[in-house]
Amino acid sequence: MKKWKFGLIAGLMLLLPLALNTPVANAQTTATTEATTKPAKKTTPKAKKHYLIVMGHGAGDPGARGNGTTEATFLRKYMLPQLRKYAKEVQNSTVTFYNPKKNLVSDTLFHHQGSYKLNKKTTVIMFHLDAPAGHGGHVIIHKQHPTARDKRLAKVIQKYVGLNKAYNGYSYRTNLKNCNVLRKRGIDYSLVESGFITNKTDVHHLKKNMAKIAKADIEAITNEKIK
Ligand SMILES: [Zn+2]
Repeated sequence: MKKWKFGLIAGLMLLLPLALNTPVANAQTTATTEATTKPAKKTTPKAKKHYLIVMGHGAGDPGARGNGTTEATFLRKYMLPQLRKYAKEVQNSTVTFYNPKKNLVSDTLFHHQGSYKLNKKTTVIMFHLDAPAGHGGHVIIHKQHPTARDKRLAKVIQKYVGLNKAYNGYSYRTNLKNCNVLRKRGIDYSLVESGFITNKTDVHHLKKNMAKIAKADIEAITNEKIK
């Protein structure tokens, strides 16, 4: 009797793992898959550098006016679509655009959003058009001396529109709100004054070369060549 009971229990013990086996085995397989996926992710190339492009002042602020248009309209209508197009082509960086319906400055100063929502490693590139009178563009820089990126951006302006003689390419400013909302949070930036909206020749050159300028600007920002 005892022997039979033992046999039954032993038999049940043998069957029990069989009944339980399937889900346990599945769980183990899942765990193993996860374990092998994670280190694989770590070996992929380092995280892509993020650039955020801000077109003009944003929201309802038209910015500078001239030649029958506004800074906001010109930047959004002509430049933004081209920049978006080439931004998709870069491999080692991620380029995104700040919602033109939003104003980074007021988002930061009044809503604790804007630059507060940015990763400190993000670099912000702002595009603007100058006024009231003059010719050519320049780069408003984050530090006293231009970075390699600032120099590449200035070269694009020089090639297609020309540089503003007053600045010789660069201007270091600490009194601009749109820069200071970034500066105060330790975020790197460049502000590109692409030319004068009030200058017929500047606007003509910008319009005529917009695709080339946008491509060159994305290359200058990311330091990548686009085919
Ligand atoms: Zn502006």
